Amino acid sequence: MPLSIDRGAVIRGLIRDVPDFPKKGILFKDITPLLADPRGFHMVLDALAEEFVGLHLDAIVGIESRGFIFGAALAARLNCSFVPVRKPGKLPAAVDRVRYALEYGEGHLEMHKDSISEGANVLIVDDLLATGGTAAGAAELVRGQGGIVTACAFVVELSFLGGRERLVPMPVKSIVTY
Ligand code: AMP
Repeated sequence: MPLSIDRGAVIRGLIRDVPDFPKKGILFKDITPLLADPRGFHMVLDALAEEFVGLHLDAIVGIESRGFIFGAALAARLNCSFVPVRKPGKLPAAVDRVRYALEYGEGHLEMHKDSISEGANVLIVDDLLATGGTAAGAAELVRGQGGIVTACAFVVELSFLGGRERLVPMPVKSIVTY
């Protein structure tokens, strides 16, 4: 394989559009073909690891559920902790909870109370950035425990939904943008 291969194009080619899922009018970006392709999955992790390897991260916070897949693999590569942020009622020990804005309505996210040390440098990871409400909720949980959100990272960014602006001043990294 030539060294100059266009990683972004390969990854983009492994993301499948599914119209009208989970409801009519939504074009769902399905990452399962990317997960099924070992080369593509490596490329995503390489791209993210290269971005953050020098940053002295203490923890990666992954957002349920597809954020777990990329976040946990990246944490293992970067030798930092992995912390799950989950939908209500899933985490077994004492939790902190935030309310966050969904496209229509609102939801809640939870994180174990003892997840983040005071002053820890944290990277938030999810598969996709849309309006930014979910990542903003996760950031609130991290800050509530005294952590510093170093950046937010996504495989896919739907830039027309303005999530990046919503997350200002947090730096945002995404691999493919639509
Ligand atoms: P948001 O809070 O609006 O940035 O939404 C991001 C969350 O919703 C992520 O956890 C995504 O997995 C999911 N999501 C939103 N829109 C889509 C989409 N078009 N395709 C796939 N996942 C999506």
